[in-house]
Amino acid sequence: MNRYRLLILVVLMFAATNVIVAQKADSARRTLDIFYIDVEGGAATLIVTPAGESILVDAGWPGFEGRDAKRIEKAMKEAGVTAIDHLIVTHYHTDHYGGVPELARLIRVNKFYDHGPISSLDEDKDFAAKYAAYRAAAKDQTVTLNPGSSIRLKQTQTAQPVFLQILASRGETVTSKRSTVEPNGACSGAAEQPEDKTDNARSVAFLLRHGAFNFLDTGDLTWNIESKLVCPQDMVGEVVLYQVAHHGANTSNNPAMLRTIKPMVAIMNNGPRKGGHPDTVKGLRATPKLVDLWQVHRNIASGAENNSPEEFIANLDEQNDEAHMIRVSVDAAKRTFTVTNDRNGKSKSYEIK
Ligand SMILES: [Zn+2]
Repeated sequence: MNRYRLLILVVLMFAATNVIVAQKADSARRTLDIFYIDVEGGAATLIVTPAGESILVDAGWPGFEGRDAKRIEKAMKEAGVTAIDHLIVTHYHTDHYGGVPELARLIRVNKFYDHGPISSLDEDKDFAAKYAAYRAAAKDQTVTLNPGSSIRLKQTQTAQPVFLQILASRGETVTSKRSTVEPNGACSGAAEQPEDKTDNARSVAFLLRHGAFNFLDTGDLTWNIESKLVCPQDMVGEVVLYQVAHHGANTSNNPAMLRTIKPMVAIMNNGPRKGGHPDTVKGLRATPKLVDLWQVHRNIASGAENNSPEEFIANLDEQNDEAHMIRVSVDAAKRTFTVTNDRNGKSKSYEIK
């Protein structure tokens, strides 16, 4: 063998090895994982895609010696990610974006998304300082999410694609391109509530799709905008996993929306004394496809009948909170997903029909 042939052989062997390594890396993570981080009645939902990309939806509260930022960092370690690729701030309330500055000091956040810049917020007297701290953490570089737009995610060759589409933002909702409206039967008799002028109504809502699995997160979106999403025309469709809106408050979770999305599994990020309203629990139980409602906390005030069985609750006590997570792992190829309660290790698998 002459030198030239030997060189070609070496190059080919090197290339073949690299292909094997690349395939291994690609198949190392096959699932889509979602972590419900306990931020005591705030919101912080970490999503890690099969390509290893990380999306954090809201960052909990500020203060308590950086408690929520540390809890997010701990969840990231367990998920095997070192940075947040996409941080979605659903709206400018302290329990959702207050924790962003502390988080950005602790870990790297590559991109910030929100419903757009605002100049004042009536319901928060400390808005100016909090918003300035958020803008500084984002280095004034934020992406405004509009209804109908999407966040482009990395895909792998082996896993089914992952899509994240924005359904609502700033009180506007995605609209149909069709000229005719197909009226949604679940809207009949739907009642309106007085106009919500708070930033809850401007929450970013999105649908994440991965094969037959989909996940709806509407932040703290309230009643009338939820109605706009599904009435008169349904712009959402049926949902496999539903993050119970607004921590389970009954100014959200409009029955017309719940009856339309017919969730199979719902996860509620309520606190011991926040959210988890009996009306919402009742409304969810009345939907035809619900198998289980999981809760980040037991609602201390509302009694056993308005809480899920203990095994579906991650944190039972108000004091000495150990901040147990609820995690979801989706195997799109098998059309299954598993929900795990970190407190007791209880896991339950669901088949996506
Ligand atoms: Zn909230």
